[in-house]
Amino acid sequence: MNAQHPSGRARTAVVIGGGVAGPVAALALQKAGIAATVYEAHRPGTGSKGGPLTLAPNGLSALRVVGADADLAETGIPTPRMVVHSGAGKVLGAIEHAPELPTMVTLSRGRMTELLQARAEAAGVPIVYGRRFVDATDTGRSVIAQFDDHTTAEADVLIGCDGIRSTVRSHIDPAGPRPRYTGLIGLGGFIEGPAGVVDTGGAFHMVFGRRAFFGHLSDGERTGWFANLPVKRLDRDALRATAFEEWTARMRAAFADDASPALRLLDHVTPASFIPPSPLEDLPHLPHWSKGRIALIGDAAHAASPSSGQGASLAAESAIELARCLRDLPVDRAFQAYEAIRRGRVERIIAAAARTNQSKAAGPIAARIRDAVMPFVMERFMTPERTAWQHAHAIDWGRRVR
Ligand SMILES: Cc1cc2nc3c(=O)[nH]c(=O)nc-3n(C[C@H](O)[C@H](O)[C@H](O)COP(=O)(O)OP(=O)(O)OC[C@H]3O[C@@H](n4cnc5c(N)ncnc54)[C@H](O)[C@@H]3O)c2cc1C
Repeated sequence: MNAQHPSGRARTAVVIGGGVAGPVAALALQKAGIAATVYEAHRPGTGSKGGPLTLAPNGLSALRVVGADADLAETGIPTPRMVVHSGAGKVLGAIEHAPELPTMVTLSRGRMTELLQARAEAAGVPIVYGRRFVDATDTGRSVIAQFDDHTTAEADVLIGCDGIRSTVRSHIDPAGPRPRYTGLIGLGGFIEGPAGVVDTGGAFHMVFGRRAFFGHLSDGERTGWFANLPVKRLDRDALRATAFEEWTARMRAAFADDASPALRLLDHVTPASFIPPSPLEDLPHLPHWSKGRIALIGDAAHAASPSSGQGASLAAESAIELARCLRDLPVDRAFQAYEAIRRGRVERIIAAAARTNQSKAAGPIAARIRDAVMPFVMERFMTPERTAWQHAHAIDWGRRVR
C-alpha cells in the first residue's frame, strides 16, 4: 500500500515508456527526491533502430541537467550546420548554430534510447523491460498501473512517456484528438562508410527536391540519410506490405531529376541498413495533459513532426520541467504548473514544423515560389538570434516552482 506524503507531494512514480522522455523523467525525478521505476514494452535490442535523429542544442542543455548529455554528444556526429538546397542544386540558405550553445548532434533514434536507458540504469533507476502498460486505476491516493502480463505497480503518480500512440493518453482524454498525418512518409537509415557521398564536415544537407525531400550527412565513417515522400492517402497496411526493392525504386523515381547525391547514396542502401517507412505525424494540441495522478510528457502529450528536429529535445525538456514541478508542489498543482510552463513553447514549435511540412509537399508552382522566397526567409529569419527562442532555451533547475 502506498503511504501518502502529508504535504501532498509525490514520493514515488511509475513511468510508462523507456524511449526518450521516460529515462530522462526518471533521472530528473530521482534528482528531485522521487523514486521512479520505468516500464518499457520492448526488451533491449528489439525496438526500432530508427533513422538519423538530430538532438538540438536545447535538448542537450536539458539533458545536461541530469548528466545525460555527454554520452550522446560523444556518440553522435557533431552537426553545427544545416544547408538547404533546391532540387536544381542551388543553395537556398544555411543555418549555423550559435557557438556558445552545445553543438547539435545526429545519431540513430535507437542508439539514443539505448544510451539514455544505460545512463538511467547506471544512476540506479530500475527499468523493467518487456512490460506493456494496459490500464490504470487512480484511487485518489495513488495510481495502480496494470500490465499485459497481469502484474501491477503502484505509486503516487503515473507519468505517461509512451510516445505518439500513447495508451496512457486514452486514460486522460479518451475522446481527445488523435495524431495528425502530415501527408508525408519518412524513410532512412545509417550506412557504414561514406556511402557514395563526401564527408559533409558537420553539415546536414537538406534538399527540397522536385518531388520529395532528401537529407544526408556523413563523417566519412557513418552516413545518415532520410527521405520524405508525399503520400496523400495513408494506408498503413500497404506501407508495411511494400518491399524494400519497391521503396528504393520509388525513391529513385522521386529523386531522378534532382541535383542531389540521393541516387548515389541509394546505391549503398541495403535491406539491413534500411529503416522501413513511417508516417510523419504530429499532435498539435491535446486539451488535457493530466488527470488526477496521471500526466503525460513527450510525444504522448505534444508530438512535433520530425521536420521540427525538436521532438526528442522537447521530450527531454518536458521530462525535467515536470520533475521540477513535482519537486516543489503537491501533485495537482505540480501538473498545472508543468502544463503552464510547457504548453506555449511546444505548440509554437509544432506549428512551425507544420509550415515546413507544407513546403516539403509543395506542388510545382508552390515549389517555384518557395525556391524564390526561401533565400530571403532563411537569411532574415534563420539566424542564431532569430532561432535562439528554440535553441538557447535553458531550464533553471535550481529555481523553485510556485
Ligand atoms: C522518422 C522520424 C524522424 C525523427 N527525427 C527527429 C529528429 O531529427 N529530431 C528530434 O528531436 N526528433 C525526431 N523525431 C521525433 C522523436 O523520435 C520523438 O519526438 C521522441 O522519440 C519522443 O520521445 P518519447 O519518449 O516521447 O517517445 P518515444 O521515443 O516514442 O518512446 C516511447 C516509448 O514507450 C514505449 N511504449 C509504448 N507503448 C507502451 C506501453 N503501453 N507500455 C510500455 N511502454 C510503451 C515504446 O516502446 C517506446 O520505447 C523523429 C521521429 C520520426 C518518426
